[in-house]
Amino acid sequence: MRKKIVAGNWKMNLDFQQGISLFSEIVNMAKDEVLGQQQVVVCSPFIHLHGIAQLAKGVSRVAIGAQNIYFEEKGAYTGEISAVQVKSAGAEYVILGHSERRAYFNESDDMLSKKVDAALKHGLIPVFCIGETREEREADRYFDVIGGQLEQGVFHLSNEAFSNVVLAYEPVWAIGTGLTASPEQAQEVHAFIRDKAAEQYNQDTADQLTILYGGSCNPQNAPELFAQPDIDGGLIGGASLKSRDFIDIAK
Ligand code: PGA
Repeated sequence: MRKKIVAGNWKMNLDFQQGISLFSEIVNMAKDEVLGQQQVVVCSPFIHLHGIAQLAKGVSRVAIGAQNIYFEEKGAYTGEISAVQVKSAGAEYVILGHSERRAYFNESDDMLSKKVDAALKHGLIPVFCIGETREEREADRYFDVIGGQLEQGVFHLSNEAFSNVVLAYEPVWAIGTGLTASPEQAQEVHAFIRDKAAEQYNQDTADQLTILYGGSCNPQNAPELFAQPDIDGGLIGGASLKSRDFIDIAK
């Protein structure tokens, strides 16, 4: 049985108090309601990590993640934050390779592969994001693009290290646009990703790999998406800012 995860990506939203309030609501709902085998992860801005980690103590269904790290452990890197630091604040996961970081902060595949290494070295689970732009989909290049992102970002890992990675397929054209990939479109890519993992490693590793879908996921479209055989949960942006919607998606 592979791990089922619904992860929220708060992005650059919520001041400190707003984040604490939202997280408190999520924890209360996750306690009260049956989430089955679902693991809920909240990836907050750095300022919330320590505060929400206190609230998550003893709540096994809810874990915490960061949205980025730098690959060096410490030193003169003004404004950056390391795997060791976010881990010490309570993070267990870290989103890496989000398309917004690739596009706006020029994060290259080479840099991302170093960040993946740094996360794993310090016991963080990378939620590694991949996905094509609208132009790449329209030109029918999406398998090439996604295959390349996998090869350069995570396929340098040993089988053992790769077993600790979660992947998130996020078509760039679906992020924050209200345009969700259809269940068939998403399933096609998820099956492709699993096949690539089987080719690179082995079938068992591929079968254990958790692959999330992200891009305008909401309580209405989640059931059909998550019913696909190769979709193991979601990475949720906008809808993770409302506790009710987020928990409904997880349910
Ligand atoms: P969205 O964002 O759900 O708002 O489309 C998803 C993401 O960027 O992770």
